[in-house]
Amino acid sequence: MNEFDLINNYFSWQLNDSDIELGVGDDAAIVNLHSDFQLVTSTDTLSEGVHFFDDDLPEDIAYKSLAVNLSDIAAMGATAKWFTLALTLPSLDEVWLKHFSESLKETSQKYSVSLIGGDTTKGTLNISITIMGVVQKRCAIKRSGAKNGDYIYVSGDIGDAAHCLKKIKEGVKPNESELIKLKRPLPRLELGSALKNIASSCIDISDGLEQDLQHIIKASKVGAEIDVYDLPISEELNNYIKTSGNWSLPLCGGDDYELCFTANKEHDSAIKNIAKTHNIRITKIGVISDSKRLEVKGYDGALKSYQHF
Ligand code: ADP
Ligand code: MG
Repeated sequence: MNEFDLINNYFSWQLNDSDIELGVGDDAAIVNLHSDFQLVTSTDTLSEGVHFFDDDLPEDIAYKSLAVNLSDIAAMGATAKWFTLALTLPSLDEVWLKHFSESLKETSQKYSVSLIGGDTTKGTLNISITIMGVVQKRCAIKRSGAKNGDYIYVSGDIGDAAHCLKKIKEGVKPNESELIKLKRPLPRLELGSALKNIASSCIDISDGLEQDLQHIIKASKVGAEIDVYDLPISEELNNYIKTSGNWSLPLCGGDDYELCFTANKEHDSAIKNIAKTHNIRITKIGVISDSKRLEVKGYDGALKSYQHF
């Protein structure tokens, strides 16, 4: 099997999107854009040893590679449409490829996104996806729109993925729900979309709430006050914090892919309704201030979110 058979066998399946004029197989893909919509695009890479362990299952790696990209589209309030896959493989392992491509196909169908191209090379395992979405002109939710007095919210629970990773690194067996949080994060596409015209800013929490909220306050030229006792955390994590006094997991732990967003307080009841309609926990964790800095109440320990360099 050569590179072209590999693409044909594992990454060229029937697509169901009339906006695609040309998918996998030519020098480039062609998609049609509707007027009054803007293209929203982003790339996220997963590298062996950095984003996953060498014995992680191909189906989990495929799921997460796409999910983290979908999460960026969700954070913009956009609708995910297409993606390309740049795949670097150490060898041509057909069993691995079968599981990887089946999971990628299943995940793409679940979230109605289509694989329209990519690149395949040899080297250390690396999966780089470029995702493309659409949003009505000027409706995307940027990091830069937070205003003094806005409430700050977080979806879901935070810190479990980092707690899970900590346990694995310490040789402790994580429980099933923690493993799911780490390996199968849920892209909050419905929530992001519902927050259009409501949220003043939004970001997905990939590297830790503390760092990601700093991105919002920097882009918006504001400050923020949050209280650790308002953070949405699981019972398991709460127990860990009670004994250790260490709030760094929900504050600085990455990999949750929950949304952190701000909104004028007049939208508070609309946000409660969104939480109910979409059956997603949404928690108010603080308020935007004019201080230009992030103030974390209830914890004065070290804060260090994830940084690659
Ligand atoms: P080129 O040499 O013109 O860059 P390639 O031989 O790399 O083209 O790719 C051939 C076709 O297969 C292109 O349409 C490309 O987008 C697609 N493709 C290559 N690798 C992948 C992949 N891993 N997943 C999906 N499509 C791929
Ligand atoms: Mg070419």
